Amino acid sequence: GFKVAIIGRPNVGKSTLFNRLVGKKLALVDDTPGVTRDRRVHAAKLYDLHFDVIDTAGFEDAAASTLPGRMRQQTEIAIREADLIFFTVDAKSGLMPDDRTFADVVRKSGKPVVLVANKAEARGAQGGMLEAWELGLGEPIPVSAEHGQGMPDLRDAVVEALGEERVFGEDDEEESGEIAASEVLIGEDIADPDAEAPYDDTKPLRIAVVGRPNAGKSTLINALIGEERLLTGPEAGITRDSISVDWDWRGRRIKLFDTAGMRRKSKVQEKLEKLSVQDGLRAIRFAEIVIIVLDATIPFEKQDLQIADLIIREGRAPVIAFNKWDLIDNPQELLSELREKTERLLPQVRGIQAVPVSAETGRGLDKLMESVIKTHKVWNSRVSTGKLNRWLEGILAHHPPPAVAGRRLKIKYVTQAKTRPPGFVVSCSRPDAMPQSYVRYLTNSLREAFDMPGVPIRMALRTSD
Ligand code: GDP
Repeated sequence: GFKVAIIGRPNVGKSTLFNRLVGKKLALVDDTPGVTRDRRVHAAKLYDLHFDVIDTAGFEDAAASTLPGRMRQQTEIAIREADLIFFTVDAKSGLMPDDRTFADVVRKSGKPVVLVANKAEARGAQGGMLEAWELGLGEPIPVSAEHGQGMPDLRDAVVEALGEERVFGEDDEEESGEIAASEVLIGEDIADPDAEAPYDDTKPLRIAVVGRPNAGKSTLINALIGEERLLTGPEAGITRDSISVDWDWRGRRIKLFDTAGMRRKSKVQEKLEKLSVQDGLRAIRFAEIVIIVLDATIPFEKQDLQIADLIIREGRAPVIAFNKWDLIDNPQELLSELREKTERLLPQVRGIQAVPVSAETGRGLDKLMESVIKTHKVWNSRVSTGKLNRWLEGILAHHPPPAVAGRRLKIKYVTQAKTRPPGFVVSCSRPDAMPQSYVRYLTNSLREAFDMPGVPIRMALRTSD
């Protein structure tokens, strides 16, 4: 878990926010004079986020008789203990000199900050919202602690500020044990080493090229990057663990990983070369996007589907290249036939990009790369909690979950917990009772509503406690 300190000058609404997060009237109830109650810690919840809040509300009353210095000292202690600061301002009244003083302390601490613009529902709060930018603490998140508005955005801001790894990471043993018991994972786990990274098109995009022998992988790679580059590859017999080539396409940096096709092959080597699942798996794990090269004259053998399945289970995004398109004499017909077949055989990546190419002539390669980049963006995409729950409202109105054993299943909210690939948490009444078909319906609807074709989508069901 992580600790949040709610910081701000008196009267901005810190206690109200505290109460909303902790869910009880603790800050008021425990108000016993003389007791050291400056920095108590309480368990708080914001949708799927579980954390502790350091209660700093109230100490300012005690401090009134003493000095602003004491207040400041207490604040500093809270900041030191916290992993994240909710710096709270009053959007209705606008900034006061004290806001700037406190903001300085927070900024100097170097701690991650979410700037909370409270009382945003009030008339005239717009001016205060704009002013809040001046604090240099990032984008103000408009909320109404009193009325519970803006909480979805606050939730997303927390994930943004701390990163997914920190928020959902498994440094909390108890928590992960609890999840295992109360949650049904659809598909594999959603783990990804750089899951917290936002979409960054300056980092090299890692692509693996896979396919059966003779599908045209080497030819395709050569056509993409040019023959010369390949000749510098390792000699035969040298370990092939991480054979890669750096390249760029229209200014986008790319790292190409090869399973087998990247070296010039001797006849002997060619014979030895079977597409072992092991080899493929290694390249797939390194990659973000995997190009599956199919020989359009003999598409979709069992092996192709096995490898596609592997890619999807690993949470990578596949893009299909129907190669040797120059040999096809009924291209229109075949393409619609193949695309239809693809959708049918790979329903887990509905809308997958499938591009006819000729590695030999170079036709279709630009289109292929455009598809790769488009898919990569989708794979990295994130949907705000606010949007997700507006979508959910529509779903619940028009196609709610069924009743099981006479009791209607309830869904409370949906959040996105991961990217790369997109992973969602559905908080519901009885995860084990939720039919797979309904989860599929949710997944497809979500894919459509938020335009996420061609990538695996993870759904985790969790009990809403
Ligand atoms: P790999 O085993 O997947 O790396 O396949 P190769 O790149 O070695 O290609 C296998 C054979 O298919 C070679 O004879 C290539 O010349 C041929 N080939 C590859 N791509 C194309 C293509 O787009 N059109 C045609 N007509 N032949 C191709």
